[in-house]
Amino acid sequence: MSIVVQKYGGTSVGDANRIRNVARRVITAKQSGSDVVVVVSAMGDTTDDLIKLARQISDKPSAREMDVLLSTGEMVSSTLLAMALENMGHKAISLSGAQAGIRTDATFGHALILSIDPGRVVQEIKNGNIVIVAGFQGVTKDDDTTTLGRGGSDTTAVALAASLGASVCERYTDVEGIFTADPRVVPRASKLKEISYDEMLELATYGSKVMHPRAVEMGQIYNVPILVASSFNDYPGTLIHGGLMEIRNKVTAITQDMDVAKITVVGVPDTPGIAASIFEPLAKAGISVDTIVQNASIQNITDLSFTVTKGDADKALRIVGPIAENVGARECVADTKLAKVSIIGSGMQNTPGYASTMFSTLFASGINIQLITTSEIRITVIIADDKANEASVALHKAFELEK
Ligand code: ASP
Ligand code: MG
Repeated sequence: MSIVVQKYGGTSVGDANRIRNVARRVITAKQSGSDVVVVVSAMGDTTDDLIKLARQISDKPSAREMDVLLSTGEMVSSTLLAMALENMGHKAISLSGAQAGIRTDATFGHALILSIDPGRVVQEIKNGNIVIVAGFQGVTKDDDTTTLGRGGSDTTAVALAASLGASVCERYTDVEGIFTADPRVVPRASKLKEISYDEMLELATYGSKVMHPRAVEMGQIYNVPILVASSFNDYPGTLIHGGLMEIRNKVTAITQDMDVAKITVVGVPDTPGIAASIFEPLAKAGISVDTIVQNASIQNITDLSFTVTKGDADKALRIVGPIAENVGARECVADTKLAKVSIIGSGMQNTPGYASTMFSTLFASGINIQLITTSEIRITVIIADDKANEASVALHKAFELEK
């Protein structure tokens, strides 16, 4: 029999009624003829609340204790769901990450899954159980509990689906699917029936919060189709998969990321080693640097710009300022009111014209472009953040994505 892995997010299991609603959906899936393995997130804001609680106890809680603490959130929801299923007359069993055979490295707080031994899960399916696995957690070779990083239950679900050879990983939250743009920003955005892993990865990396890039990447590597749909209705969701029927010769979606700041080192001597002297200390300080642009130099003097998150801007400036002075740069400035807007679509590959349409659309709206970056299937512009919504709406229209 085919196995379906269903994953329910924190909102979907937010209270007793919602847990019962999830139980009914699981039963429907089982009755349509599949073996069902369910992965759950912690109820509602449980994880945030546990983090706050730990902070009240200690400024620097041990990473190991923190992971045991956070893993309890998913234990609560998985056990309650098992009880709800049994109450409705179905055999069910909850398993912790460790019991489900999920082995990780020992990086507490953002552990990587090393392997999954699906033996116990398979045995419980054979026993006639609906198996509920606590998401977001695993265990090291020394039997210490780990967590996979915020939002990690999606990763648990896709990894389990891969190890069980499941036909699909269905991922249910309060979001109905992947849209051509964020409907809160672009009211005329429409839901996509399908999207490729590559496009979804770009979307997730460049601002869409719907799916964590890590889970998408895992789906792509193990070729697990991922259905993104709502647990609150039965509308069809969006299928993320590899074998798209046709490459649409157009843009698939627009996305924006409001959390962008730009640091510019003005008037740097264009000599070897300057970039290294700037970016090494940033890396050491744990600041992740995104877009990097170096201007063409005039008389051996150039400008160097890079982007960081808004929260990292001050810190980056404090680190780079003295270095810039040391290497004889004129000044170091930050612009903390920026956003990225991207157009994404496999159909853009090898097809000219997308960039020019994008730029002329922004020009027509009087929006100034500060930086541009591209991949094979994405063009991103960095613009003032108070223009981002307007840019998304205009681009959504220009690329004929309106419903
Ligand atoms: N409960 C964890 C979090 O809130 C993991 C998850 O929901 O996927 O980050
Ligand atoms: Mg959560």
